[in-house]
Amino acid sequence: MNNNIAVIFYGPPGSGKGTQAKLLSDKLNLYLFDTGDFLRKIFSNPKLKNNKKIQAQKRLYNEGKLVSFEWVLKNVSQKVKELAKLDQSVVFSGSARSLFEAFGDNKHKGLVKILEEIFGKHNLYFFYLDISDEESIKRNSRRLICPTCKNALLAFASSMKNCPLCGDKIEHRSDDKKEIIVKRLKEYRQMTLPVIKELKKRKYKVIKIDGMPAPYKIFNKILNYF
Ligand code: AMP
Repeated sequence: MNNNIAVIFYGPPGSGKGTQAKLLSDKLNLYLFDTGDFLRKIFSNPKLKNNKKIQAQKRLYNEGKLVSFEWVLKNVSQKVKELAKLDQSVVFSGSARSLFEAFGDNKHKGLVKILEEIFGKHNLYFFYLDISDEESIKRNSRRLICPTCKNALLAFASSMKNCPLCGDKIEHRSDDKKEIIVKRLKEYRQMTLPVIKELKKRKYKVIKIDGMPAPYKIFNKILNYF
């Protein structure tokens, strides 16, 4: 066990968990693991176009469903173990998102247990960014991203065609269509909210933050906990 920290951001799609995770990662020098980004990289890799297993996972992603819990847990826990060897703190956006990924079963150790063994329970922070369903749908259907540098500010730049940083064409994410956002919200309620409930029950540090204010205001609130 060491004095490093592990931070996990929760919140419905568009609540700003990726943005806050990135800000915190830069400020406190935490390794950033964004599970959605990790998956998007795999799904857009042309070398994996004919890989049936990966393409089946991509279909789930495109339908707004969570991808295989076991597959995600395997990849995430592998990364966490690498980081532990490097004596590095970490921040997650998008994991653990299911009870299985968080707490495992009798054959698999869940992410929360793995983190607890490495960092200690007192060094685990779970932030929960709260926004309404209406706000989630509004933000995601307007969201534009640069597939290359993922500049979060582009979310507000609806008239831009190209990223001002790298010049790549900015686009809507394939899962940011209204009907898919509604499905992602449903997945969040059914699969992820129970994780937050269970974490509270098990007396982990779960901190609820209003996700409505501007990102810098939210970030200042978050910093008060460190
Ligand atoms: P995000 O970028 O966090 O909005 O996640 C986008 C999509 O990636 C989700 O709708 C899921 O299909 C998939 N995903 C992200 N994180 C996980 C996870 N921990 N477990 C399963 N699927 C995930």
